[in-house]
Amino acid sequence: MAQLSDDCFAQDGRLMRVAEARALLERVIVPIGAAEPVPLHGALGRILLEDIVAGHDVPPRDNSAVDGYAIYFDDLNPDAETALPVTGRAAAGHPLERPARRGAAVRIFTGAAMPAGSDQGAPDTVMMQEDCRLDGDTVVVAPGIKRGANRRAAGEDIAAGATVLRAGRRLRPQDLGQAAAAGRREVLVAKPLRVALFSTGDELREPGAALDPGCIYDSNRATIHGLLAGLGCAVDDLGILADRAETIRAALDTAAQDHDLIVTSGGVSVGEEDHVKPAVEALGKLHFWRLAIKPGRPLALGQVGAVPFVGLPGNPVAVMVTFLTMVRPMILRLLGGDAPVPRSFKVRADFAHKKKKDRREWLRVRLSGDGPENWLAHKFPREGAGILSSLVEADGLVELPEDLTRLEPGTMVDFLPFSEVTT
Ligand code: AMP
Ligand code: MG
Repeated sequence: MAQLSDDCFAQDGRLMRVAEARALLERVIVPIGAAEPVPLHGALGRILLEDIVAGHDVPPRDNSAVDGYAIYFDDLNPDAETALPVTGRAAAGHPLERPARRGAAVRIFTGAAMPAGSDQGAPDTVMMQEDCRLDGDTVVVAPGIKRGANRRAAGEDIAAGATVLRAGRRLRPQDLGQAAAAGRREVLVAKPLRVALFSTGDELREPGAALDPGCIYDSNRATIHGLLAGLGCAVDDLGILADRAETIRAALDTAAQDHDLIVTSGGVSVGEEDHVKPAVEALGKLHFWRLAIKPGRPLALGQVGAVPFVGLPGNPVAVMVTFLTMVRPMILRLLGGDAPVPRSFKVRADFAHKKKKDRREWLRVRLSGDGPENWLAHKFPREGAGILSSLVEADGLVELPEDLTRLEPGTMVDFLPFSEVTT
């Protein structure tokens, strides 16, 4: 279970910029450190918790990059054809079992180890078969090739002893390949974070249930579940909590027994119908971080006993933005992973927009255009933080920096694709 330093989310109530809030999280969140070995096929998307060091050169031996003939470069006439007898064969996995003679060629195939030589050196060059002519058992080679051509050097991919993957990396398919190339069958990764997930609100109903007057279906839990699952969390979906501090308190108390993180949505504005605050305060601590962002009002951070607690806003769009900007890096950090700032890229805005200075704003946009040169971002006409359909139609978020106050159509802006942050 996470060890939080005492009251680590406390701060002085000032408006916090995104960069400041991220730095603060980075400081106060201590990785849980629970690791488990898993076979490579179970390691995709997991956080690596060890450095992977290559025990040998990759490739282990010099080998041929093409199908052709391995020769001694010094046997070649510099400016005329050379005829060499073909005296052996080396295929991938089947090296030539004796040294290759001077003055002869060895038939060789891609990936086959270069033949060993003698005290007169070793074959050092491979002629591509397309550049050779075969005359009985003799191969005729044109002049003009460079010494060492078509030969791959031992260790050219990875040198023995090199660190090929560092702890903290989130494993992608090619990383699994790299670990395998280094000879690893298993790797040490972070245990999935056990997350307890609740919604709060008397108006919420389970999808599919009867919709009583004044009620809505609980959509946040499905969204947040997806966001957590994308990070490899083991999510316990613990349903909807009524707007009663006592109910919430009891549920959180139980959840804290066997989870690493508790996430709720709703009930954390500061109105009289917001019952999360007293519930968490009865069990631990709660702080409202006043983030200088839109959408997303205060983010509630605290602890239930020793378990970190995140209270997300209720509005679906605010949920998504605060999760992506704050909770996602927090989870990566709890897992011991690197949490780099997500990469955005430049697109042209087709809209005008006014914003308040000193806060960061995210707009839901759809892209049109047929390539990087002319992507055009279109903003959704309805900006409300409750308009979930705008997120569904959006390809990502345009991020407007704190300093900006007016955006003119045609300006280049930072676009953060959802694909960068939702897996
Ligand atoms: P609250 O922060 O609890 O006052 O909620 C703010 C708004 O978000 C209200 O309109 C709620 O009905 C709505 N809301 C809260 N939780 C959810 C949820 N789980 N799914 C959909 N909407 C929600
Ligand atoms: Mg509510």
